[in-house]
Amino acid sequence: MDLDALNLDLEARSARERLAWAVETYGDRLLFTSSFGPGSGVLLHLWSEVADRLPVYFIDTGFLFEQTLAYRETLTAKLGLRVEVLEPALEKGRFLERYGLTLYRDDPDRCCAINKVEPLQAALPGKEAWVSGLRRDQSKSRSETPIVLATDGPLKVHPLADWNARDVYRYLELHHVPEHPLFEQGYVSVGCAPCTRAVMPGEDERSGRWAGSEKTECGLHTFLKAK
Ligand code: SF4
Repeated sequence: MDLDALNLDLEARSARERLAWAVETYGDRLLFTSSFGPGSGVLLHLWSEVADRLPVYFIDTGFLFEQTLAYRETLTAKLGLRVEVLEPALEKGRFLERYGLTLYRDDPDRCCAINKVEPLQAALPGKEAWVSGLRRDQSKSRSETPIVLATDGPLKVHPLADWNARDVYRYLELHHVPEHPLFEQGYVSVGCAPCTRAVMPGEDERSGRWAGSEKTECGLHTFLKAK
């Protein structure tokens, strides 16, 4: 596959066309994950229109905000989604017994590896491509995100790579898709509750994640190596 040519071609297409290309090319060998966070409604809405009830995978780490779980229920009903929930091998209580109360702070990479990456890996066999909602404008570490990226695992597909926050909120409004309940309180990116705070004016979208630590990117988006 000529990735450069494919990226050039996909850059000229709309997000819907990019997603449709991925669905047509990979069918049930395509994995789609959503955090059901702020802005997730765009890809979920597009997915509901082009993916013919292929599943949406959602990782429930056990540390999520109850508002995220409620938002998942709202969008699942509104968009007619088929959601597959992935969970860590150790439920929250046993995890805290084994690793202590503060692994998220003391070693967030390990915490993410156990609670996010391992559950996701269980869904990877047989998948050749993986769609997620990364955008270049979200943070410095995402500023070079291509539409498609070859990795040592599945091909990563980012249909919204060139969208900005304004595009997202316009789309949600136009299609009457509700936003995450915490968005209005300044949570423009939402992950696990212990590792998320509201964003201050002037900060980038993901600066409320793992604030005060050196970690800037979710383990889900670093465990595969780009080729
Ligand atoms: S986001 Fe925080 S609580 Fe959630 S898995 Fe990663 S380190 Fe643990």
